[in-house]
Amino acid sequence: MLRDKIKIPISELEQSAFCRNDEDLDSKTLEEEFNAGVRWQKLPISYMRTAPEDLEANILSARKKLGDRVVVLGHHYQRDEVIKFADLKGDSFKLSQYAAEQKNAEYIIFCGVHFMAETADILSSDEQKVILPNLTAGCSMADMAQTDDVLDCWDDLMELMTVDDITPMAYMNSTADIKSLCGKNGGVICTSSNAKQIFDWAYKQRDKILFLPDQHLGRNTAVNMGIDLSEIIVWDPFKPLGGNTKEEIANSKLILWKGHCSVHTRFSTAQIDKAREEDPDINIIVHPECTLDVVQSADYYGSTEYIKKIIDEAEPGTSWAIGTEISMVNRLSEENPDKKIFCLDSIVCPCSTMYRIHPAYLSWVLDGLLENKVINQIKVPDNVRKYSKISLNRMLELN
Ligand code: SF4
Repeated sequence: MLRDKIKIPISELEQSAFCRNDEDLDSKTLEEEFNAGVRWQKLPISYMRTAPEDLEANILSARKKLGDRVVVLGHHYQRDEVIKFADLKGDSFKLSQYAAEQKNAEYIIFCGVHFMAETADILSSDEQKVILPNLTAGCSMADMAQTDDVLDCWDDLMELMTVDDITPMAYMNSTADIKSLCGKNGGVICTSSNAKQIFDWAYKQRDKILFLPDQHLGRNTAVNMGIDLSEIIVWDPFKPLGGNTKEEIANSKLILWKGHCSVHTRFSTAQIDKAREEDPDINIIVHPECTLDVVQSADYYGSTEYIKKIIDEAEPGTSWAIGTEISMVNRLSEENPDKKIFCLDSIVCPCSTMYRIHPAYLSWVLDGLLENKVINQIKVPDNVRKYSKISLNRMLELN
């Protein structure tokens, strides 16, 4: 069944709301940020009006009172005013490992986006509660693979082949429903840190992969493995058979869901050319959610953790233009004052959904815990949890 209207995720429309030219992404009250016209989760007005420095004091005080009953996990793309409260920081892969390791904390507060909090819930114990400070912190890429559309795609494929012919593989940036579909059908999850390794495993099991939701990570990984572009097709959920013929599907090795990251697809080869023109010694490093031409033009590409490692270990005095999320680029620049580091895109845009975790939300959920109220718990239903855990554990065991 095809949906009659193309829906663009709200987060995709909001992407440019916080883009800046050269001004810093300064801390503001939440009320001021709402003036950009965004539609985030509502919370008591007192939190919206609290000044950034008072929020910081409130958060520190609540954390002190709660002690080790709470652990805060923070993604590298979080804004500075939030990541500074994280006990553990990482990319989605590292954070999934941390979530699985947290045996003692009663509450895991996830300063990231919705799919990451779902993953933490799936991998943590039944007694632990996972909290996402702002429920509207989703991911525009994950939103591009809606459950009904993916189930329709899978049904279409199962009319043309059997489950022994194709491995459903989801990028970590997908909903628990999609991870569950993978778990039920012999599939697996991957992250940008381990995509090649998981692709290798999948091709040892079956001839084809259905990869979703990020077409760019899928294509970049496959091309790196030597798969020809002629063997890669894209599945557009708004077209019959994804816009492909039966023959094209039969001849393909890789079927890519038509999804993308609105942050990483902003980078272009023109920006790379400009950076090289201005500084012939510049090193270009980008994330594999960028398009194939950008990845192929860069000097290095890899996951968020890989980018961090390369920059941290680079020689003093070297110059780096980075194609990834701006909060992380700014932080790398501050942490490596002996290197010249800047964002490949001169118009800097944070991940608009990560950006929705304003300190006011963190303060609100912590205060709730002090009153024994669990605000914004993320609880994956048992049947979805069971199969998503299978696909996630398959990935964790392969590492
Ligand atoms: S950077 Fe892109 S993929 Fe990552 S959470 Fe933001 S929108 Fe989603």
